[in-house]
Amino acid sequence: MTECEICGSNASKRAEIDGALVNVCDGCAKYGKVAPEPVKLKPKPKQEIDSSKYIDPQYPKLIKKAREEKDLKIEELAKKINEKESVISRLETGHLSPSFSLAEKLENFLEIELVKEYEGNLVSQNKEGGSGLTIGDVVEIGGTDD
Ligand SMILES: [Zn+2]
Repeated sequence: MTECEICGSNASKRAEIDGALVNVCDGCAKYGKVAPEPVKLKPKPKQEIDSSKYIDPQYPKLIKKAREEKDLKIEELAKKINEKESVISRLETGHLSPSFSLAEKLENFLEIELVKEYEGNLVSQNKEGGSGLTIGDVVEIGGTDD
């Protein structure tokens, strides 16, 4: 906890006393000019990176084509990117969808694009029937949680 610099009890405010900002309790706040609380903006909810990405559904074709263009056998490609041959063949038949990390490995090696990002569509969908936030909801004044 923060101690009131005047009486030593639990400080809840900061006040300007003789030009210095000090921690004060409610009782002692009257001795100084209470500093305006900083206006805090609520942090924007972080978007999960992966939720805006997806694997191109054409991945079996893309991988196979790129591999053939590089004149590699499944076995050779598997070795190059340190995966099992069965993984590559299941990818190419669509029986296995690659994780993002595997997809990125394939992208880098085969010079193709497998990981796509959703465009703005999803974002504007969220606006429909949104939470009705106003600027007053977004700007939070106060907060003594420090
Ligand atoms: Zn005090």
